[in-house]
Parts: sequence; structure tokens; C-alpha cells
Amino acid sequence: VRIGIIGCNAAGISAASAARKNDRKAEIFLVESEEVAAYSRCGLPHAISGEVTDFANLIVFPRSYYKLMRLDLRLRTTAKSIDLKEKRLVVEYEGKEECLQFDRLVLATGSNLFSPPARGMELAYHLRTIADGKGICAAAEASSSAVIVGGGLIGLEMAVALRQKGLKISLVEMLPQIAPNMLDSDMAQILQGRLEQRDIEILTGSTIQYVQREAKSSNIVLSTGSMKADLVIAATGIRPNTELARSAGLRIGESGGIWVNPRLQTSVEDIYAAGECVELLNFITGRPVLSQFGTSAVRSGRVAGTNAAGGYATMPRVLNSAVSKLFETQVGVTGLTESQAEKQGLTTISGIMGGKTKAPYYPGSKNIFAKLTFNRENMKLVGAQIIGEEEVTQRINMLSMAIKGGMTVWDLELAETCYTPPLAEPWEVSLHEASQSVLAKMKNRKN
Ligand SMILES: Cc1cc2nc3c(=O)[nH]c(=O)nc-3n(C[C@H](O)[C@H](O)[C@H](O)COP(=O)(O)OP(=O)(O)OC[C@H]3O[C@@H](n4cnc5c(N)ncnc54)[C@H](O)[C@@H]3O)c2cc1C
Repeated sequence: VRIGIIGCNAAGISAASAARKNDRKAEIFLVESEEVAAYSRCGLPHAISGEVTDFANLIVFPRSYYKLMRLDLRLRTTAKSIDLKEKRLVVEYEGKEECLQFDRLVLATGSNLFSPPARGMELAYHLRTIADGKGICAAAEASSSAVIVGGGLIGLEMAVALRQKGLKISLVEMLPQIAPNMLDSDMAQILQGRLEQRDIEILTGSTIQYVQREAKSSNIVLSTGSMKADLVIAATGIRPNTELARSAGLRIGESGGIWVNPRLQTSVEDIYAAGECVELLNFITGRPVLSQFGTSAVRSGRVAGTNAAGGYATMPRVLNSAVSKLFETQVGVTGLTESQAEKQGLTTISGIMGGKTKAPYYPGSKNIFAKLTFNRENMKLVGAQIIGEEEVTQRINMLSMAIKGGMTVWDLELAETCYTPPLAEPWEVSLHEASQSVLAKMKNRKN
């Protein structure tokens, strides 16, 4: 069997590894447009800030891995078209075209950057590749200020990275709050306050009109005024890269990703897809969603690679859990925010609580805020948001399991946890206390 994989980052390499584990004899080739394969895009902000000392450290799979796993990796090679009938892939390497035969194919083409259509934004820096990261680092050396356009996770991580390099930072977000895909406005307010305390200027409800390049700096004209900065960075989102799939006639889903079934088979037999280019299903609503996270990319890559090699695996529905570290603040989410849930037609009830991570008298005890959102009809947990300074990740992981386990507010309130002053509190904020606040709200509404 000859298995072809298009794209060799998180999903592609995961598919190749799984295919090899399922079929020790298959011929497996990977084509990748970039010069470097299978590195951590998630680590890029940390290489820019300098916490990770070299961009090369982000490469997760060294060349020896491909040799060991007998994977034919072709770098700087772009797949141009797929002939589904003849099972042929046309690729281009150094201006020359070549045909590669396959029996099964995995599309792991990721996403394309999205730029706002404002004049001058084509000159802005973006962050997606190691080359982008190095370009931003070089430009930052010659800059003393930066404007980041876009207040999602990547914009926020860029703001922190460049602030750590000593630049004066302004962040512009079109919507009335930062992290709109991750937090409700009440939680976003807490995060914004913390970032402002660390000298990041945040302008919400502000749209970019145009950017005018001047001698050294740029003049950035917004709907709410204008400002000057040496460096302009766009962090305005991504869209699934489905060009190849579309031109081959594969079905595209309603969210814009490649349509796949739970085994990640596309609408055409023997063609699989994984990673950011596909459409998955949301665990709570069952509706199609994009999942633009490394976690979904590696899992879906494994599923597609296993199936392409004749094994059997299915992709679970997703909660799009995410976490980020912004200076000392950790912010995490799982499931739906209250506003997302309401938009999906659910009636919700939420509880928000602030507390401590350890006994308040114990040195080093940190503040933590948690918001839990329940479906009012059955009181099952549908979402959690946490902002704190330690152990946010494992709290989010626990709550993600609680959602998938169908747990209700009463289950969470009765949860048995452990306690000792240097490590925890007897009542856990993100579990008991947030649930108790919801139960109190319900009682008050009845009275
Ligand atoms: C700055 C940044 C920070 C992030 N932080 C996090 C984080 O903290 N946690 C998290 O879970 N996720 C994070 N992510 C998201 C995560 O990196 C992505 O979800 C993940 O890389 C997606 O993997 P993928 O393989 O689907 O797509 P990609 O990583 O986009 O890989 C697709 C590959 O396909 C190649 N390709 C596309 N078309 C062709 C073609 N025609 N021919 C040949 N090759 C082709 C591309 O060159 C690319 O290398 C971050 C992303 C960025 C940019």
C-alpha cells in the first residue's frame, strides 16, 4: 500500500506515525511546502520572547525520526492537484512538477492566514511559521513599539512576547472584549485588567481603517482614533486551507472545513483529512465546528493515519479546550462560554467565583477565578472558564471530563476533593464554590 500525506505539521506527522504503526510495510510519503517540518507552532511566541532560546528547539521530530519510521519526507514540495480517478498527486519541487501515485491519501493542509481587508495591512507581520517568527524577532530588534491587531489567543500571546522584549504594546480588538472565542465578557474583563497592569494598552471595540507606512514607523488609523508604532502585527485569525480539496471536488462542510465522517474519511473513498483543515463536531451541540488547536490536530492525525493504513479509529466530538499563559496569568476554557451556549439556543445558568489556590494564610497562595455554565434544562455542565496563576490546566482538564461525563451541578457540588493548606483549599473554587453559587441562584429564583 502507498499512503500519501499532504502537509507535515501536527496532523501530518501524527498521521504518518500512526500509519506506520498500523502497517509496517506500507510505503509512506509526506509532502510539505515549508523548509522545516513538524515543529511546534504553539512554541513560536515563546521563542520570540526568548524563553525558548532557539527556534530550532521547536522542531519536535528530528530527521532521524523519518529514517527510523521509514517515512519519505519531501520538504519544499507543494501538492498542486489531486487526480482522484488515477490516484495521482501532482507536486512541485524547485519549479519542476512530478506525479506521485497513491492508494490512500491524507490531507493535513492546515490553515491559511486571514487578513482584514484594510489598506496597508498587507505590510503587517503575521505569526504562523518559524520564518515568520524570525522575521518578527529581527523587526523587533529595530523597534520600540508595536500594535497588535486582533485580541484572540495568538494576538494576546504576541503582545506578551513583545512586551517581554521591552516593546511598548497596544492591542486593538474589533469586538467589545478580548479573547472573544474563549471567554465571556465578565471573565475577559478580569484578564484585560491583569494585562493592563503589565503595561499592555488594550483598545476594544476598535476597527482598523488603514495603515500608512512612514519613514521608520507606521501610522495606524482606527475607527476610534489613530496611533503610531514601529511594528504592526496582524493576528486576525485563520481559515481552513481547503483549496486542494475543493479543486478535487471533495465535499466542504458548512463551517468551511473539509467534511469528514467520524473515521475522518472525506466524501471520496480512500481520501482522509485531519487537523485544522477539517470540520469536526462539537460535543455539546453536535453541530459542525472548526477546531484550531494542536490537540485536535494530533488526535485527528492519528485517527486518519490509522484508518488510511487499514486500522480502525474514530474521532471524538470536541470541546475545544484551550489554555494559555500570559505573563503570570493562566487562562483556560473548555466547552461553550455562556454567550456561545445562548447563541446555540441553550438556556443557561452560570456561576462565577473568585478564591484562592491554597489556604489564604499559606505563603504563595494565588488568586483564581472560575466561571461554570450549565444547561438550564438538565443542569449539566456545558462550559468552564478559569483565570488564575497556577494549576489552571488540570482544573480545565477535570472540567472537560466532567462535561464529557454528563455531570450536573449537583455532581460537581458533591465532588470529593483532597486538601492540605500548602496545596489546596477544602472547597475548590472551580468545582464546589462555583456550583454552590449556581445552586444559590436557583434557590433565590424559586423564592
Ligand atoms: C502562534 C501559534 C500559537 C499556537 N498555540 C497553540 C497552543 O498553545 N495550543 C494549541 O493547542 N494550539 C496552538 N496553536 C495551533 C496549532 O499550532 C495548530 O492547531 C496546529 O499546528 C495545526 O496543525 P495542522 O497539522 O492541522 O496544520 P498546520 O500546522 O498548518 O500544518 C499544515 C502543513 O501543511 C502544509 N501544506 C499546506 N498545503 C500544502 C500543499 N498543498 N502541499 C504541501 N504542503 C502543504 C503547510 O506548509 C503546513 O506546514 C498555535 C498556533 C500558532 C500559529
